[in-house]
Amino acid sequence: MANCKETIRELDAFLDDELPADVRDHIHQHLGECVDCHQAFDFQAELKLAIRRKCNTDELPDGLLGRIEMCFDADFDGDGVIGAADGR
Ligand SMILES: [Zn+2]
Repeated sequence: MANCKETIRELDAFLDDELPADVRDHIHQHLGECVDCHQAFDFQAELKLAIRRKCNTDELPDGLLGRIEMCFDADFDGDGVIGAADGR
């Protein structure tokens, strides 16, 4: 059973379709049950789409993810740090 922390941590891989099917299922189920994670998912999915369109890349600009993490108070990239690891 996925929890919020796991779901948020795997969100990026989930959006990139990089997860094994069983993990995807857990996260999908959790997103259906949890409004907080669903909002974070929607936000990140749209953000990725916007960045992909504008920049032709999947990578977030330096420092942007750190700022987003601080807004959500969540560790999106799973590096154990909320905000940019180097303090940007
Ligand atoms: Zn959740």
